[in-house]
Amino acid sequence: MFNAEINRTLTAAADLINTAEGLKSAQDTPDTLSSVEGLKAYLTEREPELEWPTTTANKKQLEKVRSLRGQLHTVWSSAPVTAPSGLEIINKLLEGVGTELVITEDEGEAQFRERPIPVSRQISDVITATVAAALAHLVTSEETGRLRICRGDDCEAAIVDLTRNRSKLFCDFGNCANRAHVRAYRARQAAQKNNDGAAAPAQKPRRLTKPSSAEKAEAINRPKSATAVAAKEFRDRMREELMQKREKKS
Ligand SMILES: [Zn+2]
Repeated sequence: MFNAEINRTLTAAADLINTAEGLKSAQDTPDTLSSVEGLKAYLTEREPELEWPTTTANKKQLEKVRSLRGQLHTVWSSAPVTAPSGLEIINKLLEGVGTELVITEDEGEAQFRERPIPVSRQISDVITATVAAALAHLVTSEETGRLRICRGDDCEAAIVDLTRNRSKLFCDFGNCANRAHVRAYRARQAAQKNNDGAAAPAQKPRRLTKPSSAEKAEAINRPKSATAVAAKEFRDRMREELMQKREKKS
């Protein structure tokens, strides 16, 4: 969406936020940035072009990166930036960060770029400068709405929408998109049932959207014949009993 540098920086920033403990696609995930090893692992998994080395990773740097993670979480949670208060954190991160002009190659084309100069070569300062510059670019191009929290139920994952049509609403941790589709489908079904109950028009409402793959899968699983219905009821009852037994045990 933006230039390659900004894309990879924003992705790395969202990944940093997601190292925190919390719900990702209805799964509890632990804090993976709780040790210097955790910080090194995070840095190693970055795209090499970011040039975020592990060499200065130590306890002090870990604390600083963890603090940056908290600040970025606040930026993401309150995006889009629409008021001056939304600029406070980003301006704080930009403190002391300089700019130099360079010529880089992006997909085979040489281009002029601004590159942030961090306060020091310590990793927390390098990450802060790179991310702050990318966020500044988002603010000035009025694109902070691309910083989002996943719309999935029981999910707190930070995402960055790099699609042209601003269509990314869900994270890639699990099946958030699929779960939301199934939920919407059930809601539509329930609404239709209510409609059918009313005496009004006998005509079936025309579908306006194509069924999603999740809906198709559910339609296939829906029993059709009387014996299939009975079999499904039996299975459901067995599952219910099993769950009750398990609950009693625990
Ligand atoms: Zn999610």
